[in-house]
Amino acid sequence: MAGSKCVRLSGELAKQLLASVDSVLFDCDGVIWRGDQAIPGAPRVIELLKEHGKKVFFVTNNSTKTRKMYVDKMSTLGFNASEDEVFGTAYCSAIYLKTVCKLQGKVYLIGSNAMKQELEAVGIQQTGLGPDHIFGKQTDWANVPLEPDVKAVLVGFDEHFSYMKLNRALQYLTRMDCLFVGTNRDTRLPLEGGTAVPGTGCLLQAVETAAQRQAATVGKPSRFMFDCVASKFHVEPGRCLMVGDRLDTDIMLGSNCGLKTLLTLTGVSTVAEAEANQKSGCSERQGMVPDYYVESIADLLPALQG
Ligand code: PLP
Ligand code: CA
Repeated sequence: MAGSKCVRLSGELAKQLLASVDSVLFDCDGVIWRGDQAIPGAPRVIELLKEHGKKVFFVTNNSTKTRKMYVDKMSTLGFNASEDEVFGTAYCSAIYLKTVCKLQGKVYLIGSNAMKQELEAVGIQQTGLGPDHIFGKQTDWANVPLEPDVKAVLVGFDEHFSYMKLNRALQYLTRMDCLFVGTNRDTRLPLEGGTAVPGTGCLLQAVETAAQRQAATVGKPSRFMFDCVASKFHVEPGRCLMVGDRLDTDIMLGSNCGLKTLLTLTGVSTVAEAEANQKSGCSERQGMVPDYYVESIADLLPALQG
């Protein structure tokens, strides 16, 4: 039916869809791998897409790895990718601070070593990486030592997040010339077996609450992630397919940027949730309805092999 959405992608339809795009953006966790295991058939799908002349990119909200670390992980899992094809939030937030904010000064980093490396790769120094211990016994929280040249607070995934870091971020953010950027807002990271752990969104919201300021975010569904890809490579939005497992990040990014969207059911979101969005009549939730869905991206194999 013309104009219908959330359609199961069948053989012939899959061929038509793939013929109608030049580029494919893949989310990573829940789409091409789950944790440390490749989704069966995913490496072959990517190989065949490239053989068919498609540009393939990987866009992930996970800020704990540099592009090089992603390429190494992908190679271990049987994927063939180059650093140019990988867009993680550690890299994209460094690019954002450099090119959009034109940051002059240091970053107070709540984040990972990977974020430090990507910042340094574009010439931005950071302070804050690693544990931040409570100083002294009678802590004068509002008078913690601050570095004068810090001009931005950047929040990503940080396993050493603490009250002291939250406080230090607040003290920096009371300076009105201090920028405030977050990698992404994923609130929960789902694990195998239905469990979950807190995502970066929890840390970012804590800092926003303390500072009484809103951060600009770089990761999906913010369109900066797509702009990053599009500014480096020629990508025509109408001839680009976004493949993801989350309606609120991946599918929303695709909708925000005018891409075709494909939900895969190997991760977080379900068809029932997509249909509920569609039927809700709420215009904001229409961005969280994919054009198509598949059980797994391996369902694209027949269309690529035939
Ligand atoms: N952030 C962190 C810290 C993660 O570990 C993950 C998934 O492993 C994500 C975000 C979500 O990543 P993706 O956008 O690839 O699904
Ligand atoms: Ca995902």
